[in-house]
Amino acid sequence: MVTEIREAGNLSNLRSVSIGGNDAVIPFKGHYPFLDTDVYKVLEGLAYELARTDHPSPDFTSFWEEAVSLIQSAQRPDGYLNSYFQSPQIGREPWSDLAWGHELYSLGHLIQAGLAADRQLADDRLLTVAIAFADLAVSKFGPDGTETVCGHPEVEMALVELYRHTGRADYLELARLFIERRGHRTIADDRMPAEYFQDAVPLRDLDSITGHAVRMMYLAAGATDVAIETADQDLFDSLERLWRDMVRHKMYITGGLGSRHSDEAIGDRFELPSDRSYAETCAAIATMQWAWRMFLATGEAHYLDAYEQILYNAYAAGISADGTAFFYDNPLQRRPDHRQRSGAETDGEELRRAWFSCPCCPPNVARWTAELQDHIAVLGDHLTIAVLTGCRIQAGGLDLEIDTEYPWQPRATIRVHRADPDALGLRLRVPGWCEGSHGLRGGQSAAPRSQFGLVRGR
Ligand SMILES: [Zn+2]
Repeated sequence: MVTEIREAGNLSNLRSVSIGGNDAVIPFKGHYPFLDTDVYKVLEGLAYELARTDHPSPDFTSFWEEAVSLIQSAQRPDGYLNSYFQSPQIGREPWSDLAWGHELYSLGHLIQAGLAADRQLADDRLLTVAIAFADLAVSKFGPDGTETVCGHPEVEMALVELYRHTGRADYLELARLFIERRGHRTIADDRMPAEYFQDAVPLRDLDSITGHAVRMMYLAAGATDVAIETADQDLFDSLERLWRDMVRHKMYITGGLGSRHSDEAIGDRFELPSDRSYAETCAAIATMQWAWRMFLATGEAHYLDAYEQILYNAYAAGISADGTAFFYDNPLQRRPDHRQRSGAETDGEELRRAWFSCPCCPPNVARWTAELQDHIAVLGDHLTIAVLTGCRIQAGGLDLEIDTEYPWQPRATIRVHRADPDALGLRLRVPGWCEGSHGLRGGQSAAPRSQFGLVRGR
């Protein structure tokens, strides 16, 4: 994917606005103001990949160093960073188009890449850039700033994570303000209705999820983070209600979300056409991000059932078996003679592609696949195995190895290599669809209970 990023011109865009770069006006490559986020998302995934191996690919390490250096030198002294608005060739003022400029959306992905780099590689260069940009956002849109929101939610969950990482409450407050301000029609746009941006009704009063599917899911995930960190039960109750309504009425059997290519929108209840569905790969990722947060907040395993349903269907369908080609949209049926307008390309798409003119999905897949390791188990009172997959886990005083062919085969072997005297107990999620299950420990029955089978690790 680093090759596609280079060829698409994303690095060239950053280079063209770098301090000390060539003064000649270099044409901006691509059509959108959010192309920096493709770099950020790839770097976020790359941080995990580089941390996983002692012998990384030279392509990866050279991309890492080049991209990080360009991002550092492209940032303005006041912290602002967006190569589209900074481009002399584009000639537009920063913050002049909150509806479509995606500047705060870009900040969100920059924060997430910075946190991944700091946590996985102890490399704080990206995070330093992200914090300077976040501080600018706090001064511009914080309690004393302009009362508006970005046209594309995403920054909210990144700001909450930055708060968790730094302890700085002004990042959490900015995320909270962005959640509360949305729904009051502050986004000025005459191309799309306010509903597209989730700006027609406040989230806590929303009857049902609506508008652009990816925007809606990022908003819900960020709002869940805010509700958890601010102990806002009323907001969390609304999110639970919206989740239940979505799963019962608006989600495909694949876990895909978004019934309409028009506006890339969530449809009405039970509006779920199989061959005209949109179900963007990014929407699958965003819905998994929301599901994971709802599980962490409640401990209820049905959120993981939905997570797994999306992972193995809506998400996996968007990626070729060799991991090099992608679908933007994931209908349940593709008819070669039906030339529908895809969300990604004007002439539709029948085969997976390595890249798109609107390339949000491939880099999103790169980061999400790279960090799936963070969404397998949870440490709490127990070590909870949330998603069954072959892996090695060393946490909670336990060193264990899971061997399984799940989901192709409904069994798993967990070998406990080491259990400290004070090791946590082990909990294993039993999928909700599983009508009968049983556990064996050392050949003896260890009957699981309800959706979480309890198998003591000691
Ligand atoms: Zn996408």
